[in-house]
Amino acid sequence: MQSGPGAPQTVQDRSPHPGRLVVIAGCMFSGKTTCLIARLRDAQRSGRRVLALKHRIDDRYDAAHLVTHDEDRFDAQRAPDAATIQRLAADADVIAIDEGHFFGRALIDATSTLLAEGKTVFVAGIDNDAWGRPFTPMPELAAMADEVIATSARCTKCGGEARYSQRLVPVHENFMVGGADCYEPRCGRCFEPLPGPAPEPA
Ligand SMILES: [Zn+2]
Repeated sequence: MQSGPGAPQTVQDRSPHPGRLVVIAGCMFSGKTTCLIARLRDAQRSGRRVLALKHRIDDRYDAAHLVTHDEDRFDAQRAPDAATIQRLAADADVIAIDEGHFFGRALIDATSTLLAEGKTVFVAGIDNDAWGRPFTPMPELAAMADEVIATSARCTKCGGEARYSQRLVPVHENFMVGGADCYEPRCGRCFEPLPGPAPEPA
């Protein structure tokens, strides 16, 4: 987001902090992880201590990688929840969180704490769910961010700019897990929200 004299101000009540938050938000297959890895490599080249994290559904964490759809990789760890992110981040200057949408509302407070400690935080994630609703916590984090990178893909129906992730198979929980067999990018005209009541966000 722009800042400085004359720039539009957000109405969000945002306490000042010494850190920096960059949010990378978009639909499936829009290059979010590619963007995240590029920023991590920049930070590494400048000698900063980086930590990359992705979500883990169960309660352990272990070595893993951020992996893009074209198979680029970056060493990462898995965290089951936002509290674990704070613990793992203690020795890092730059924390990159992929799949931010899986961490729910708790990621907002965890991110605020890291920013108050002066850390740089990157969060990549999906900002609209399969029902077409804002996908907490990505829109909230975008409102707090120093920089927002909105990624988009090509709509598989019409070739237009896609901002939505079309679910191709039924879903029973608010968990957007799955690859090309479960989702495809769609524009706002071609997107068909999942029917029925959506589950409450975490
Ligand atoms: Zn379309």
